[in-house]
Amino acid sequence: MTQKLQTNLDQIVARYPDVPPLIILKTDVQRRGVFYSKAALELLDEAAHQTTGTHIFGARDGMIALRPESLLLRDGTSIITTPTPLDENPYLVDVKDGSPWLFDDGVALEAVDYWPAPDFYAKSSSSGVPMKNIVSARPQRLNIFPYRYCTFWNNNKGCSFCDIVSQLKKGGKELNIPAKLDPHEVGVVVGEALKEPGRFSAVFLTSGSIFSGAEPFDDEVEYYIEILKEVGKQFRTKKFPSQIIGTAFTKKQLQHLYDETGLMSYTADIEVLNEGLFDRLCPGKSEWIGYQGWKKRLVDAVDVFGPGRVNTGLVAGIELTSPHGFISEDEALQHTLSEAEDLARQGVSTVFIVWSPRPHTPLGNQKNASLDYYIRLARGLHALRVKYRLPIGYDDYRHCGNHPDSDLSRLLPY
Ligand code: SF4
Repeated sequence: MTQKLQTNLDQIVARYPDVPPLIILKTDVQRRGVFYSKAALELLDEAAHQTTGTHIFGARDGMIALRPESLLLRDGTSIITTPTPLDENPYLVDVKDGSPWLFDDGVALEAVDYWPAPDFYAKSSSSGVPMKNIVSARPQRLNIFPYRYCTFWNNNKGCSFCDIVSQLKKGGKELNIPAKLDPHEVGVVVGEALKEPGRFSAVFLTSGSIFSGAEPFDDEVEYYIEILKEVGKQFRTKKFPSQIIGTAFTKKQLQHLYDETGLMSYTADIEVLNEGLFDRLCPGKSEWIGYQGWKKRLVDAVDVFGPGRVNTGLVAGIELTSPHGFISEDEALQHTLSEAEDLARQGVSTVFIVWSPRPHTPLGNQKNASLDYYIRLARGLHALRVKYRLPIGYDDYRHCGNHPDSDLSRLLPY
């Protein structure tokens, strides 16, 4: 074994030859986070690159500062990662031969690009708000975060990994981001963004939960309908490539959402595939809908949106937190994949994000899982989609780029 194979990253690359090394690297960069050197930050050009700040969730170092929104690898893979304090052992983004590179332990690993800024980022809306604070972008997707609060925090029952409220407070003061977007203004900005030829292939929308209304969450549904109707005016067809991450709605609400808008796919994040942990770590979701209720509503959504157009997301790693999580990664993996299979056989896909412990959250002082765990989880979730023939095009490497498991759909086809 060479000296190089002694690194954890190379050991995992050698252990899983079916997983592209760049996806393993991406996953580890998500797991450990990044630190930008001064020289790397000097390469950041606000006119040319996307910079951080518009997301409804905060950075791992708790700061709002001018930094790259995220990174691209040489094969086009997005790394959605977050600035992380040096004492948490992140990867370093530094400069080599005048370009940004990823470094670990002094070794230059891979060239990276900062995400390019779309044309509309230079413009402001008629109300004077920068358009990028109304609609933001991933390399190929438009992101709308219409409501930057979540009513589960009204009685302090928000999810244990979530910093939406502290980010809202910072974002309002420091960034001039509206807490709640005007649907008409969203439609105008989407129209402006679509003027850039060939840049965007989908529209995505997510916000905090809103439990008010005649039936719980009716107000959330109606607000999404208002926004999607305005966005729909920018398209010639009734349906347009789109995804929402919303609360788990009733079948009646889902049908209403589907019938009234151009929405083509639906996601309701269950966050953790274990009932006891769901109750503890997502107490608001548990109080209003419950674990079994959440699963049932996901399955109901398949009747409305169709097989292969509904999924749920995990914040992978929280299932291993103390004191109530699984003790062993083997046990956590076996349990998670078993629950994911129960959903997959009913037409619901599961994707994960690598949990990034953030300050100002109840789980913020704990560690995420091993790289080996995340790669095994990615392979397992991808294998379920192959077994149950569930396409994931609406949430894949191209449209989202935040899920190591759906990155595999690019190179290991169905
Ligand atoms: S549902 Fe949970 S993760 Fe989502 S915004 Fe509300 S508290 Fe945060």
